[in-house]
Amino acid sequence: MNTSIVDLPAALAKVVGAEHVLTEPPDLAPFVEDWRGRYRGEVCAVVLPASTEELSAVVRLCAQAGVKVLPQGGHTGLVGGATPVGARRDDGSAPVIVAMRRMNRIREIDPVGNTLVAEAGCVLETLQQAAAEQGRLYGVTFGAQGSCQIGGNVSTNAGGTGVLKYGNTREQVLGLEVVLPDGRIWNGLRTLRKDNAGYNLKHLFIGGEGTLGIVTAVAVRLHPRPAVLANAWLTLDSVENALACLAHLQSIAGDRIAAYELLNRAQLRAVQDHFPDVRLPADPDAPYAVLLELSDTYARADLNGLMEDALGQLSERGLLRDAAIAASEAQRAAFWHIRHGISEANRKAGMGLSTDVAVPVKSLAVFIENASRAVLARWPQLEIVLVAHMGDGNVHFIPRYSFEAWSQVEDQPVVADAVRAAVHDEAVALGGTFSAEHGVGYVLVDELSRLRAPLELEMMRRVRVAFDPEGLMNPGKLIDG
Ligand SMILES: Cc1cc2nc3c(=O)[nH]c(=O)nc-3n(C[C@H](O)[C@H](O)[C@H](O)COP(=O)(O)OP(=O)(O)OC[C@H]3O[C@@H](n4cnc5c(N)ncnc54)[C@H](O)[C@@H]3O)c2cc1C
Repeated sequence: MNTSIVDLPAALAKVVGAEHVLTEPPDLAPFVEDWRGRYRGEVCAVVLPASTEELSAVVRLCAQAGVKVLPQGGHTGLVGGATPVGARRDDGSAPVIVAMRRMNRIREIDPVGNTLVAEAGCVLETLQQAAAEQGRLYGVTFGAQGSCQIGGNVSTNAGGTGVLKYGNTREQVLGLEVVLPDGRIWNGLRTLRKDNAGYNLKHLFIGGEGTLGIVTAVAVRLHPRPAVLANAWLTLDSVENALACLAHLQSIAGDRIAAYELLNRAQLRAVQDHFPDVRLPADPDAPYAVLLELSDTYARADLNGLMEDALGQLSERGLLRDAAIAASEAQRAAFWHIRHGISEANRKAGMGLSTDVAVPVKSLAVFIENASRAVLARWPQLEIVLVAHMGDGNVHFIPRYSFEAWSQVEDQPVVADAVRAAVHDEAVALGGTFSAEHGVGYVLVDELSRLRAPLELEMMRRVRVAFDPEGLMNPGKLIDG
């Protein structure tokens, strides 16, 4: 039996229960506007299924009614991928949001095989804690971990501060369970490290941003949990020096380097303005600072000794201005508080035209210099804010207007796109990418078309159409149809 658009909410209610189909504006509010409050749209309903079978039935009903489906995790994405923008159908009806938060169980943990299986709506921090309780570690970590979900992380191939040591989400995922756009369930939830039986389909859904299906469960690999950690706050005169320090540290400490995060002075000032209790650990006037973390699974490893030795060597080479080693757990937490406070502080500090580029690590200093010059030559009232996952070559290069200057900018969307495009061009010129870890979403659809080769775009469109010939999944995102 076919379902019409008019009957859809009632039909969905029969599957998931009336209380799990939201249609009233106050109930819809948290689902229709993105985390920064920049994008918002309309939906026909928000549905909260509790199981893969319910979700499959929901997708089938939407397909029958010809209504588009927008998967939503923690809604912390920064490119409008989970927000109902660019999503209206030609006939004026809006999509159904499938929100994953009720599918949040950890199904299984195997501390011998180092694997964990969780439902897609499991919050990242819950998954990390479950691994920790078994003496294991899940390698992906970042500021939104208290709200984002593992299904959203898979669908954006999330990165964060642990990529240097553990890799991004793609490198953690062993298997997936997915509901396809026609409602069928693909059970690819294998926990194997080796599986060369044909095309490895999971990789299409990782970073697929909900355009090929809805991830309902994820099998990930775990790592031994570090027993000791050491942190230092380095201050530096230049990005070149930060790169030279990283290269030397890699020779001394190898894979004990767990994080190497660069921040510039403007970024640190924004954090201090927003969190007045924050004291910078060293040399507050330095142009650049790096948060360095070392970790080891051997409980008796003398990481503080290693850190002192390494910093001594960097100092002798004239690479450091100053450095402070965290002397307690509280100080370690205080160092990380500065790093993790960035997104919140930047939201309040002005109108940041954020970018998320990556270049080869050796080209980072050249990129930052070229992009700063290109942007400031055309828009001199901008200030350049920088935070980089430096070991991955990933820079959040953020040209920022004060709110007052921004309010006087005519045609704001055109200016925002032009500034971002100028930054992207500098990254691409050095063999880099305009999207390192946040994805394409709604905001960067035109940039994908502009900056990727026609053949690459054609292959992406063919994949999308092969999975979703009716164009029902997450319309208006990632690649135009
Ligand atoms: C403070 C802050 C810090 C951040 N730091 C980082 C960082 O360091 N590194 C980083 O990579 N990102 C970072 N992000 C961005 C964001 O948290 C990540 O992109 C995260 O992976 C999104 O997960 P989510 O559950 O919120 O997904 P959502 O925002 O809900 O969705 C993101 C995309 O995935 C799709 N999707 C969601 N769930 C599913 C599913 N189950 N099946 C299919 N598609 C789905 C959506 O349709 C959308 O296209 C940060 C965000 C904030 C707010």
